[in-house]
Amino acid sequence: MIQGGSELILPGATLGVLGSGQLGRMFAIAARRMGYRVHTLSPETDSPTGQVADVEVTADYGDQDSVSNFARQVSVVTFEFENVPSETTEVVSRFAPVRPAGQVLHITQHRLREKGYLRERGFPVTPFRAIRSAEELEVAVSEFGCPAVLKTAGWGYDGKGQIKIHSASEVVSAWRQLGSSEAILEGFVDFRLEVSVVAARGLDGAFAHFGVLENAHSNHILDVTVSPARISPKIAAEAEAIARGVLEALDVVGVLCVEMFLTHDDRLLINELAPRPHNSGHLTFDANVTSQFEQQVRAICGLPLGSTELLRPAAMANLLGDVWANGEPNWAEALKLPEVKLHLYGKASARPGRKMGHLTAMADSADQAERIVREARQRLMNREG
Ligand code: AMP
Repeated sequence: MIQGGSELILPGATLGVLGSGQLGRMFAIAARRMGYRVHTLSPETDSPTGQVADVEVTADYGDQDSVSNFARQVSVVTFEFENVPSETTEVVSRFAPVRPAGQVLHITQHRLREKGYLRERGFPVTPFRAIRSAEELEVAVSEFGCPAVLKTAGWGYDGKGQIKIHSASEVVSAWRQLGSSEAILEGFVDFRLEVSVVAARGLDGAFAHFGVLENAHSNHILDVTVSPARISPKIAAEAEAIARGVLEALDVVGVLCVEMFLTHDDRLLINELAPRPHNSGHLTFDANVTSQFEQQVRAICGLPLGSTELLRPAAMANLLGDVWANGEPNWAEALKLPEVKLHLYGKASARPGRKMGHLTAMADSADQAERIVREARQRLMNREG
C-alpha cells in the first residue's frame, strides 16, 4: 500500500525474521501483539523464535530455494542475528525488502569493515589495526603497547574469538590460538563505564532512542544493564548524538545499538555496532512506553515510531545457563519481589554461558532497581523455597 510516498505494511501482513533466538522471539511477541503474522528462518528447530512465530522454517541460510520460498511469503524481512551471509540477504531482497538493508549487515558483521567505516566518517572508535600475520601483530603490539585485545575480524560475539595480549612474548601463541587469517588488534581501553544507545530509524528518517544504558559485563558477556545510565547529561547527549549520526550515516531502517566505552577522561569510544535490538535494550519491554522490539516492527513496517519514554528507572539481569547449575532455579522466591518481571526464552538445555532469560526490575531510582534485580537473581539460587 502506498501512502504519503512510503510503503506501509499494516497489521495482518506477515513479517519475516532471519535468525531464531531470543531477539526474534521478543520481536515476534511484539509483532503478534500488534496483529502481524511472523515467519522465522534458521537452521534450528523448536527455536525461541519458532515457538512463538506462526511459521518456523528450518533451513541453512545458504539454502537458496528455502530462503526464496520464505521471502516470497512475507512483506518484509528483518534479522535478529547479524551473522547471516550477504548472499542470503541478496536472495531475500529479490522478493521482499530487507530492513535494515543488507549493506548495514555487511558492514557490521565484520569488525574491520565496521571500525574502518566509522573511523573514515569521523566517529570516535577504539584504536585498532588490521592484522593478517604474526609479523603484523608484532608491529601493532609494539605500537599500541600492552595490554591489547586481538579479535577475529568476523563472526565474533560475546567475547568469542578474543584474546587479551599481556606482553610482546605472547604474540606468536596468541596469533596461533586465534586461528584466523584476518583479525583486528585493539588497544585495551581502561574504561570507566560501558554504555550503549539503542536507537531506531523509520522509513521516513524519523529517529528515536532509548537514552543511554549502562552495562556491566562478566566474562565478556553482558551481565546487568541499568536505565538510565548514571552519567552526566552532557555525556548522555554526546552518546545519543553519536548514535544518531551512526544510524543516519548507515541509513538504517530498523533498530541499531551502539556500544561504547566511557574513558576516565570522559571520552566516548565506539566498541561495536549491532544492527538489531540488543540485550542491553531488553528492559525497554517493561520500562519504556514502546519497547525496542515494537520499535523494530514499526520501523520495518513504515509506521510512525512510538514514544521511547522511560516509565520508571529499571535494571535487567541476564540469566545464563549457570543459574541452573544446581537444578531448577527458585522462580517463586525471585518473584516474591513484586517489581520483578521474568523473561525466559524457551531454550531446552541450560549450558553454562548460554543466555536463557533475563529479569527486569523497576523502582524509584536506577540504584534501587539494580539492587532489586541482583537480589532477585540471587534468590533463584536459594534452595530454601
Ligand atoms: P566485544 O565482543 O567486542 O563486544 O567485547 C566484549 C567485551 O570485552 C566488551 O564489552 C568489553 O567488556 C571487553 N572489551 C572488548 N574490547 C575491549 C577493548 N579494546 N578494551 C577493553 N575492553 C574490551
